[in-house]
Amino acid sequence: MHIQFCGASGEVTGSCFMVESEGKKILVDCGMFQGSEHAATSNTDPFLFDATEISAVLVTHAHIDHCGRVPLLFERGFRGPVYATEPGAALIRLQWDDMLGVMTTEHRKHGNPMLYQQPDVDRANTKLVPKKYSEKILLGAPGEDFFAIFHDAGHIFGSAFIELHVHGKVAVFSGDMGNDDVPIVKNSENLVDCDVLVMEATYGDRLHGSPRQRREDLRKIIIESVKRGGALLIPAFSIERTQEILFEFNQLIEFEHALPRIPIFLDGPLAIHANAVYRAFPQYYDSEAAAKWKAGDDFLDFPGLKVTLTTEESKTINSTPNPKVIIAGSGMMSGGRIMHHLMRYLSDPNSTVALVSYQAEGTLGRRVQDRAPMVTINGEQIPVRCHIERLDSYSAHGDQNKLLAWAGSAPHKPGRIIIVHADPSSASTFAELVTVRLKIPVQVARFGEIADI
Ligand SMILES: [Zn+2]
Repeated sequence: MHIQFCGASGEVTGSCFMVESEGKKILVDCGMFQGSEHAATSNTDPFLFDATEISAVLVTHAHIDHCGRVPLLFERGFRGPVYATEPGAALIRLQWDDMLGVMTTEHRKHGNPMLYQQPDVDRANTKLVPKKYSEKILLGAPGEDFFAIFHDAGHIFGSAFIELHVHGKVAVFSGDMGNDDVPIVKNSENLVDCDVLVMEATYGDRLHGSPRQRREDLRKIIIESVKRGGALLIPAFSIERTQEILFEFNQLIEFEHALPRIPIFLDGPLAIHANAVYRAFPQYYDSEAAAKWKAGDDFLDFPGLKVTLTTEESKTINSTPNPKVIIAGSGMMSGGRIMHHLMRYLSDPNSTVALVSYQAEGTLGRRVQDRAPMVTINGEQIPVRCHIERLDSYSAHGDQNKLLAWAGSAPHKPGRIIIVHADPSSASTFAELVTVRLKIPVQVARFGEIADI
């Protein structure tokens, strides 16, 4: 088997790996490049393969850097099935719709190119095949040793790492590896025996704070914000971080009775639609969430929560007096409904922005996190006078310890490890650790490189 590294190689976005054996070609993930300056052109560049020669795509999870270019494959002639887990597939549909909406807006406003159109998304939707964890996904003829199995990666709802059997060899693709002890999603399953492990190392050089502390930290931030009488803005990714935060509010309000009754808004269509997907698949919850669900507690809803789906509903937030809480996307303040709340409250010394997500360099979120005295939003200069609070322990990615433990969790060591989905310093730090601690041959993937297994 040959594996070609067609994205997330030397960087964290654009996940895409082509596996070729006995003339058959499949893809693992086909995500968008994001954030960096070359991202816009990388997304429109030709693929390193001919899309018409690909027979199937396996998608690890619903983050846009793993699933966002699948409709582009259809635009370029791919017509095969796209496999994802059941909740993964439902969330991927939402992401494609949302992405198309964002691209259409950007195209109208700034003339940015459209990567794909509605018919491509429609076609992708009809070819999306939901699968359960542990279910055998046939990629060749019946009886042929060419099949895949999804295992829970514990990263976001429905996320998977992939066990891929290819004519006598086994490759595992980690997708994104989850952090342990986060609300709703289960911890990752152990690694399985494999000849090669293609592994992410986003946090290969870092450790996270204690997850036990984070609910208490969130509670303190809310209480302080209420005392000051301002608005509390929580910019959050619509899928996963939003549901984790709602879970925490539910716990603090309904079970610990630890918060005063104030209005809490969930402002954004994608997050509200994602909630519906979470409710549709209770069999995928971890034991804590499953117990709540069984006892009749909808942990994404609690007294005081108002969801604002339409723009008209969203406008009612402005006229609601403080104190109040507003949870809205995007997580890095790069668009979405959070923008107009920021315009309103960043300059208010009584208000607070709570950062619960990673803020990439070059984003508005990073400037706010770095306490820039002034920021520009929609061409308007806004002084930053509000409180800024950081909650770093919310992470959907495993840290260095988790990654190492997982790479060593199979009955037998992987034959070799190839590191992807990491910036260069994180990749080299983690590669060294794998060599020293696990004593497994390791290499860092380069874009376009082909590995023979
Ligand atoms: Zn991810």
